[in-house]
Order: sequence, then structure tokens, then C-alpha cells
Amino acid sequence: CGVFGVYNHPNAAALTALGLHALQHRGQEAAGIVSYDETHFHSHRALGVVGDNFNSEDVINQLPGTLAVGHVRYSTSGGTLLRNVQPLFADLVFGGFAIAHNGNLTNAHTCRHELVENGCIFQSTSDTETFLHLIATSHYRKVLDRLTDALNRVQGAYSLVALTRRKLIGVRDPLGVRPLVLGRVGDAWVMASETCALDIIGADYVRDVEPGEIVVISEDGLKSIKPFPPQKSRFCIFEHIYFARPDSVMDGRSVYGVRKEIGAELARESHVEADMVVPVPDSGVPAAIGYARQSGIPFELGIIRNHYVGRTFIQPGDHIRHLGVKLKHNANTAHVKGKRVVLVDDSIVRGTTSVKIVEMMRAAGAKEIHMRISSPPTTHPCYYGIDTPDQDQLMAHKYSIAQMAAHIGVDTLAFISHDGLYRALGEEKRDADCPQYCDACFTGDYAIPLVDHNNLTEPQ
Ligand code: 5GP
Ligand code: SF4
Ligand code: MG
Repeated sequence: CGVFGVYNHPNAAALTALGLHALQHRGQEAAGIVSYDETHFHSHRALGVVGDNFNSEDVINQLPGTLAVGHVRYSTSGGTLLRNVQPLFADLVFGGFAIAHNGNLTNAHTCRHELVENGCIFQSTSDTETFLHLIATSHYRKVLDRLTDALNRVQGAYSLVALTRRKLIGVRDPLGVRPLVLGRVGDAWVMASETCALDIIGADYVRDVEPGEIVVISEDGLKSIKPFPPQKSRFCIFEHIYFARPDSVMDGRSVYGVRKEIGAELARESHVEADMVVPVPDSGVPAAIGYARQSGIPFELGIIRNHYVGRTFIQPGDHIRHLGVKLKHNANTAHVKGKRVVLVDDSIVRGTTSVKIVEMMRAAGAKEIHMRISSPPTTHPCYYGIDTPDQDQLMAHKYSIAQMAAHIGVDTLAFISHDGLYRALGEEKRDADCPQYCDACFTGDYAIPLVDHNNLTEPQ
């Protein structure tokens, strides 16, 4: 998901709509904005993409005020229902409260169960509502104390932006798994999942919200609260590999630069003689550029992407995903026929994309296909806000690399090594005792306890 917030701008909702546009790649199922105009909160939430729902002056005019928060959603918890669309809003004892969340709570079910036993009535099936009830039922008086109390009871990955009548609040979980940045445009403050959303509104990047930090923007300016004991951060490495937009700067690094560097590492680790390096567009492009530059093999657009189809993976449902893969890519036959191709993509999850793409490249007459993947094998599901399927559906969980190569139908298959990935990020290697990033989907090293998962899978 993507989150965005504005404090003190006359066109807060319009800026939020633009910011959400820039964050559209983080979720295409639904979008919403809540604004506050000194007297009332206003909300517009809808299923579908930002452009289809926040495209008219009428809609923006229904969201007056100088404060706003927004959200683009793709569901990792809770179904595709209007009542799950964020920002969630509630009238609490201290006034209105709107919240938008990127991430996933790992003890949401456990918390929810307790809350329901105590009489809370949930309106949605999303884990985000847990925050609302924990804040609503906290015994503290002040909003920030209630929020801190709530945060102390949840576990998981979360970047939050929240709105009260007087404050814009941003929070990152103690390990800083999901991103959140702070920006300024004129006298206004902005918070966003990625810097590309600051760029679109001409805001200057100020800094990242730090792991475990609560940033409060109010009449008194910016206040920073750090309610958790300090821990070594574990930013999501997959943001760098795939999820973030390449023009964003994350964790102090250019995402595009990192992806090219991963491609270069891949070329050093798994060189092969070939006629051309072909990316699976768009996600494989930066790594393919890095691979081509490092190996000296020409970069070619051997696959052309139809840009009028959304990201296949993010559309829920297998049937649609299959169709999506066919609609999205076409082999550039005149250029790949008879050629030895290095095919670069960012990840293999179920393997659906790779199987189709390779079939298509063979049909177009490619002589050899050497697949290079800019992530390590995805062997474990993500429980921290990226929608990976159950483990038994992950190709790298079911098969060895040789079996995967046979299944996909390539001549050779190689993934970036764990150390190579960390080197591309400017680290010497992966620190096995205390990894510099969250990389659980590639290692099974889950830094945040999987409370619900373990509760649910324990024998009864
Ligand atoms: P597969 O077809 O193997 O299941 O999925 C891999 C493809 O899905 C890659 O081309 C990757 O770019 C894309 N993809 C889209 N969204 C995601 C996501 O959330 N996680 C992962 N690992 N891959 C994704
Ligand atoms: Fe990111 Fe993977 Fe960790 Fe999920 S498990 S937060 S996708 S690195
Ligand atoms: Mg892709």
C-alpha cells in the first residue's frame, strides 16, 4: 500500500490525490482521502485506481480543508470491500481520527479477538481497524499517549499516517520495515511512502521518518517521539528489488541505482556468453541495464510491454493473473529470433510470469535463454505487507534451482546471491547474525514474531 498526508496547505486534498497518483504502483485495488476543514472531516473512498476516482474538481471540492491523508490499497489482509478501503475514520472521544496504514500486523487476529471479547464492533476485516479500537479503548487521555499505548500492543510492520483535528501524525514500526518520508512544500508539511510522491507536488525531501519514531506535526511545528527501545533497523529489502518506484530514494539510496548495481553483481556472479540482455519489462529493466553494462553484452528490448495493463501480480485471483501475463508482454520477434538471450527479471514467485515469458521467447525463435533474477529465490511468504502467496505456491519452495530451470524451460537459471544483494546495497555482505535488512522472504529469518501465524498453526 501507499500512504500520504498533508498539513497546512489550502489544497490539501488535491495534493494528496497527486501524491497518491505517484504511489499508484503500491496498490491499485482502492484509493481514499480524508480531509479536515477546521469543522468537519470529509471522506471519499472508492474501489479502483486514483485516476478513476479522484479525477474531477467535484470530488476534490468535496474534500475541503488544509489537512488531508490518503491511501492506495492492495490487500494483504482483508478482502476487496469498500468497508476495508482506507483511510479509516472514526469519531473518538477526543474527536475525529483518520488513519492510513501500509504494512501488516502480525498479531492483528489476536488483538482483534481480545477487543471483540471486550465489546468492540469491527466494521471492516482489515488489520488497520485494530489500531482504531486500541486507540479508542486506551485508558490514557491524550491522543499521543493513546497512540503510543496502541503501538505497544501491536506487532508487525507498519508505516502510518493519521489525522486528528489539529495534528498530522506519522509512525514507522520499531524495525522500520516499511518506508515513510517527510517533506515540505512552502509552509506545508508532507508525509509519503516514497520520495516520488514528494517530487510530483514539488515538495522538498526533509528526511525519512525513523524506525520506531512518531512524528507529530501541529501548530507547534514538528515533534519527534521515540517510544520504543532502540533496535537495529530492518528495512524491507524487497522495496529496493521490486516494490518501490525506481525514481524514489529509499533509506538514503536511489532505488534505480541499487537495481542497476544488483544487475551488475548478477553479471559478475553468473556470467554467460550471449548476444543480448533482455529485461522483462518494466520490473526487470534497471537490473538488465546493470547486467548489460557489466557484461558488455548489448541491452535490447526483446520484449515489449503493453502499458495499458496494470501490474499482473497485484490483481487478486489466479485466472485474471494468467490473462494479465498474456496481455502484458509481447516478444520483439524480429530481434530475438536465432539469438542467445539473457533474460532478466526481478523475482520468481509462483513462476507464472517466467513460464509464459519463456514460452513466448521460444515461440519467437530465441536460440538460448539464460534467465537471471535480481532477487534470491523467494522461499518464504511475506507477513509484513507484501502480498506473496502461501508457501506451498512458491516455486522456489517446491523446487531446487535446477528443477525450476527445467520447469520454466530455460537453458540456465541463476539468482543473485544473498551476499551479492547486500553488496549491491553498499554492505560488505549479509551479516548473518544481524542482517541489515528484512529479507525474510528469501531466508525465512522473520525478525518480527509471527504471533497470529504461530497461534493459528499450533495444534489445538
Ligand atoms: P510470478 O509470476 O513468478 O508469480 O511473479 C513474479 C512476477 O511478479 C515478477 O515479474 C514480478 O515483477 C511481479 N510481481 C508483482 N508484484 C509482486 C509482488 O508483490 N511480489 C513479487 N515477488 N513479485 C511481484
Ligand atoms: Fe520485504 Fe520480504 Fe521482508 Fe516482506 S519478507 S518485508 S517482502 S523483505
Ligand atoms: Mg515483473
